[in-house]
Amino acid sequence: MTDHPSASAVRPALPPRVGEQAPDRVWLVFALAGLAVVASYGLWPEGLAQDVVYGVVGLAGVAAIVVGAHRNRPRTVRPWLLLAAGQLLWVLGDSLYSWHDLGGQDSYPSPGDAAYLLAYPVLALGLALLGRSRRRDLAASLDALTVAAGLALLSFDLLGRPALEAAHTSPLATAVTVAYPAGDILLLAVALRLMISPGAWNRSMRCLLAAIVLLVVADTTNSATSLYADSTPTWLSYLWLCSYVSWGAAALHPSMRVATERSVGRTLRFRLWRLFALGGATFIAPGTLAVQHVLGLTIDVWAVVVGSVVMFVLVVCRMFVAIEQIADVTRQRKRLQDALAFEAAHDSLTGLPNRAQSLLLIRAALLRSQRSGEMVGLLFIDLDAFKAVNDTLGHTAGDALLCAVSRRLQAAVRGGDVVSRLGGDEFLVLLEPVADEAAALAVAQRLVEEVSMPVTLGRQVARVGASIGVAISQDAGTDAEQLIHEADVAAYRAKAGGRGRCELFDVSLRSELAAQAALEADLIRAIATDQLVLHYQPIVGVGDQQVRGLEALVRWQRPSVGLVMPGDFLPVAERSELICDLDSWVLLHAAAQVADWVAAGADPDLFVSVNISGRHASRARIVDDVTAALAAGGIRPEQLVLEVPEVVLGGDLRAVAHLRAVRDLGVGVSLDDFGTGYATISRLRDLPVDTVKLDGRFLDPSVPGATALLRLMIHTAHTAGVATVAEGVEHAGHLGILTALDCESAQGGHLGAPMTAAEAGRLSVRVR
Ligand code: C2E
Ligand code: MG
Ligand code: MG
Repeated sequence: MTDHPSASAVRPALPPRVGEQAPDRVWLVFALAGLAVVASYGLWPEGLAQDVVYGVVGLAGVAAIVVGAHRNRPRTVRPWLLLAAGQLLWVLGDSLYSWHDLGGQDSYPSPGDAAYLLAYPVLALGLALLGRSRRRDLAASLDALTVAAGLALLSFDLLGRPALEAAHTSPLATAVTVAYPAGDILLLAVALRLMISPGAWNRSMRCLLAAIVLLVVADTTNSATSLYADSTPTWLSYLWLCSYVSWGAAALHPSMRVATERSVGRTLRFRLWRLFALGGATFIAPGTLAVQHVLGLTIDVWAVVVGSVVMFVLVVCRMFVAIEQIADVTRQRKRLQDALAFEAAHDSLTGLPNRAQSLLLIRAALLRSQRSGEMVGLLFIDLDAFKAVNDTLGHTAGDALLCAVSRRLQAAVRGGDVVSRLGGDEFLVLLEPVADEAAALAVAQRLVEEVSMPVTLGRQVARVGASIGVAISQDAGTDAEQLIHEADVAAYRAKAGGRGRCELFDVSLRSELAAQAALEADLIRAIATDQLVLHYQPIVGVGDQQVRGLEALVRWQRPSVGLVMPGDFLPVAERSELICDLDSWVLLHAAAQVADWVAAGADPDLFVSVNISGRHASRARIVDDVTAALAAGGIRPEQLVLEVPEVVLGGDLRAVAHLRAVRDLGVGVSLDDFGTGYATISRLRDLPVDTVKLDGRFLDPSVPGATALLRLMIHTAHTAGVATVAEGVEHAGHLGILTALDCESAQGGHLGAPMTAAEAGRLSVRVR
């Protein structure tokens, strides 16, 4: 059984409130006026006057349906026009009856009966068409038929058979007498089908149901009294009249517009009353048999047999439909579960297994390889220049390219090998089994070539490359995560080694990885136990060669190794957040150091310049770390300068924002290694920068056009209001160039190599 939708499910489809109010009043005015006229019916003199009132109410009902269909504009007006036609036939029947009556004729059947009986199929067709625009529901149709069949049997027993047996003037009179209850059952069946099929249940539908019930009750009472009583009760006219009003009200109510609409997403529920109705209907055949037997009436065997067979067939059909519905729901659920399981295990863009699924697949392959003794190979593929495709051709093109690459990879590997996508532009290929490292490398090389071929994306052609890391399961102890990590490390190496290459995770890489891990662990300890040492290199004025400040350069006094230069340990620190801790350590110690020097008599304007990594600059903690260093050292912000690699300010918006905040504190910001390739030069004016540090290579006379470039950079910096410091000043000639180019400050071996804090302290105090 279906559940009728709540009013709220219907409301959104109605016209807006303002427009709704007028038709709302119209249906109510019609219903109240109609009922008032019906109530006055008995007050009119019998005969012509009452017949006129009867006709007026009937015609008003017809007019109301036509007007309602016009005003409310339902999706289809044809069903409503059929209902109006049915009503009109009834009015015609009423008129013919009155005319027949007034004419003093009492022949049966009369022309009025013809109009009346024709009205039933017309109304039934109208109701059926109303139901047709709703969602098809075979179960609802069968249930309606079952209940109607039960009622038909009851109607036949109580009205039909007695009518057939009664003495009639002609076979036509008998047929007409039986046709009325049959017409009622037809109407009831169609109405029931409409009421229980999935769709809107609203005031218009209730009015329709009321009209049909009033009609059927009046008709049935009329048929019964004509069989079992002497006269027809006068109150039946009120029921028929109310039925007319109710049809009209149903069409005038604005909700008629959605009465026939299919409801979306409704849950089908079989309510208890529907079960009782069906149960009651199926019991009518045996029930009448029992009643006839108990009361000693003539048992109409054939009616019971036919009724039972019809019921039986309907119930079997209904069972079949119910079983099919359950099977359908089960199939849908299974499909949904399969789809969900697939979605959870696969990448939505390419349809390849995702990271979680590829982990499971690699684990399973490793377990199989342990039993068989064969090797498993894993290729980690990182696309080269994919970002450029995304940036220049857009994300849609980027997605299409990833799909094309995934298809190529799948086409290029053997049947049992699995291609999966880790995310972004990273793919894995599981080779199971693989003969040896050379075979895996050969596959990887083939994939590099496949991926590097141009891809046509609509009217454009894109090109990416691939850096591939290869890892082989060496022994039974290898687990899936470790294998992925090894292939990843090898891919990183391939990328760093020039892109478009393959790299094998071999013994040397393994030991290098182990050494890096050990170095990282030692470095963490080094920061915690103050094994780091700061050396300082003077930054001097080009004109007077006075020390303006000192750049802090970190070294590591590594136990049992000696003094380690930053180039040997910074790359390891820079791979994680460890670099931020290292930079903070330097900030704190450098700030304290400059405070000591000033206290010992150095120039109070002496500044210390501290190198900050890109990762640290892009973290919000940089502002706190700088503030903490200033507070701990007790120095003025002007005594501290941060040196940030040019590449960071070139492309990291967060870093730019953080450095702006630092600069707002009063701390200086210097662009380190300026001119090494990243185009900040044109945006210098907009960046939070006080100084640029010109890379030492621009002083190298063997680099073509170096001096011209240096001149350009110094000029551009000055135009943007930024001061310049030249690095790598190794002899007096360099200084001469800088003097000629108006560079303010310089730094390098010729002016003072990096020195210990004590030496730097002596220098700055002595200089003063
Ligand atoms: P940088 O900031 O550009 O520092 C200048 C580097 O040039 C220093 O190397 C310095 O010793 C070297 N140098 C000095 N004078 C000359 C010269 O006349 N000619 C040549 N060719 N080189 C000269 P160092 O100390 O090995 O530092 C290397 C890099 O390590 C630095 O480059 C900086 O980027 C980074 N670094 C150093 N200390 C720190 C630190 O505390 N934190 C961070 N994040 N990075 C640091
Ligand atoms: Mg520096
Ligand atoms: Mg530098």
